[in-house]
Amino acid sequence: MTTHPLDRLSTTARILKRAQYEAFAFSLLADGDVLVRNESYANPSDHEYRVRVRDGLPVACPCPADERYEHACKHRVALAVRRPVLDTARAARAVTDADRAAAGLLSRRSTR
Ligand SMILES: [Zn+2]
Repeated sequence: MTTHPLDRLSTTARILKRAQYEAFAFSLLADGDVLVRNESYANPSDHEYRVRVRDGLPVACPCPADERYEHACKHRVALAVRRPVLDTARAARAVTDADRAAAGLLSRRSTR
């Protein structure tokens, strides 16, 4: 926990500003990814993207901007500037991994 997630993302001042003032809703998914919905639009469900989170960093977003440009899109940045959401996503993923490990252990035992 040395650097802020934002320091590890390449972005622009314009994207950062939009990521801060636009109304985003976050839904935590079971595997630690986060569904980011932009509530600033009249049809938010058309502006909903599943951002992949790895090691506490929003690493990928399927939106057109993230695919087209070298820098991180506003969905990834929106997540990076809301660190409690990001930390919760990381914790959820840790739990999921632990569950998988436990499940593996159980299935190995049952085959004995
Ligand atoms: Zn995006």
